[in-house]
Amino acid sequence: MRPQYEAARDPERLDAVRRCDILDTSPEAAFDELTFLASQICRAPIALVAIVDENRWWFKSKFGLPLDEVQDDFALCTHTLCGHDVFAITDALEDTRFSSDPLVCRDPKIRFYAGTPLVTPDGFAVGTLSVMDHLPRTLTTEQLRALQILGHQGSRLIALRHKDTARLLGSTDRGWGRLLSSYDDFVSEALKGFSSRNFVVGGMKPLSPGHGRIESQEGAANRDALRNNLLQQLSAALLQNELTVHFQPKINLQSKKVSGFEALVRWIHPTLGFVLPDEFIPLAESSGQIAALTPWVIEQTVARAQTEGWPDKGLQVAVNLSARNLHEATLPERVDSILRNNNFPPGSLTLEITESAVMSDFADALDTLNKLREIGVSLSVDDFGTGYSSLAYLKELPLQELKIDRALIANVHRSQRDSAIVKFAVDLAHNLGMSVIGEGVEEIATLRTLTEIGCDGAQGFAVGRPMRPAEVAMWLQTH
Ligand code: C2E
Ligand code: MG
Ligand code: MG
Repeated sequence: MRPQYEAARDPERLDAVRRCDILDTSPEAAFDELTFLASQICRAPIALVAIVDENRWWFKSKFGLPLDEVQDDFALCTHTLCGHDVFAITDALEDTRFSSDPLVCRDPKIRFYAGTPLVTPDGFAVGTLSVMDHLPRTLTTEQLRALQILGHQGSRLIALRHKDTARLLGSTDRGWGRLLSSYDDFVSEALKGFSSRNFVVGGMKPLSPGHGRIESQEGAANRDALRNNLLQQLSAALLQNELTVHFQPKINLQSKKVSGFEALVRWIHPTLGFVLPDEFIPLAESSGQIAALTPWVIEQTVARAQTEGWPDKGLQVAVNLSARNLHEATLPERVDSILRNNNFPPGSLTLEITESAVMSDFADALDTLNKLREIGVSLSVDDFGTGYSSLAYLKELPLQELKIDRALIANVHRSQRDSAIVKFAVDLAHNLGMSVIGEGVEEIATLRTLTEIGCDGAQGFAVGRPMRPAEVAMWLQTH
């Protein structure tokens, strides 16, 4: 593997590949349907789902190719794996980076290539979905978009077959059937309108019980047992360093420079593996453990930011608060003492709160937010557009930032309606003295439209994925 692709050898990525339990497994219809669709939509004779192991590129599904794997340096695939979006090349033979690729210089002698990474819920790219042709050519915008959507589905399939995810969801065999059946819905939607609204890349929405269907008693019992188990283990997890904080960058759309990072908590459970925050934050909230968790995340974040000298570089850090935190009278004091102990400038910390958290008890929330603001921290409304979406009440709160949810942002460059809604929210927020961030930006085209609309900042996979602290310094050197 070439030096520029060292990330592919990252032991944590390789561990994520192992945890997917996919290497050397039998063909599966769901993956074969994915390559079939990719080849049909892109009118390409070859389509692959490749899983990238340490020294080989193993094909979980192959359409139009008689090989099971390649062991030579398949740079086209590794290049896609290390990127964050669809990568397409008109003629690989004309490009010195790829002209010695085994599939380019030997049979099947491919010229055209387009691929997209397949990503686990914890953000590791484990493989690629790609299409290839024997002649140089290009894809239309719609075909590129479709390939991206099918890639999202591939990521989702990988998340579904992840043993840990299955245990987390308390899935029985029947549960698996239910989960996989949603795949058909997604594919038919992809074919209908290439709409991305319901797609999640690199993240998996936890299926709530009775997600449009009736959950079996066995499934519900499993889920309850799992919840109780996780609940008991959560406080120990804090003490035993099983929780960690990852950082996702935000950029300023005018200067195109990094403006800061959002801290996102991760739980690497010793036997379950990766547990999504969407799974355990609600547990921490309902059990009251969030009262200890939030200060812990703030402490970790502030300490790391101070060590890296982010405040001196003008970089902001953001931490998520839960609804319950807003009802703790002691929260402002605790935040204040963490900042003082770390000698951290309060203005360099932003606390993010969702609309629904504020609305659950407006008077209490207002009181806590006012006290936090007095300390000097910035306050941001997260996931705007998913809840009450009323800016009327926001003007009562001491807010500096509004983060517009991915659901409104994803199609902003495709849909006039969505861009009109976002522009309206941006203008109103500006009039209320707030800056605006677009969340969940997965495409470069979205960044362009957000800039035109007057949005101040952006966050999402197109800017950078959540990263381990050690990766952030490296990432900052190139951004
Ligand atoms: P959030 O605060 O809205 O964080 C953004 C979520 O969107 C993160 O998910 C992030 O990985 C994901 N994301 C970022 N860019 C993209 C993108 O381009 N496309 C897609 N599809 N997703 C993107 P994550 O880390 O799973 O966190 C989920 C939620 O869990 C967070 O949503 C936040 O509400 C909560 N959470 C995470 N860490 C903490 C924490 O320390 N405390 C509390 N109270 N909640 C937290
Ligand atoms: Mg947030
Ligand atoms: Mg959000």
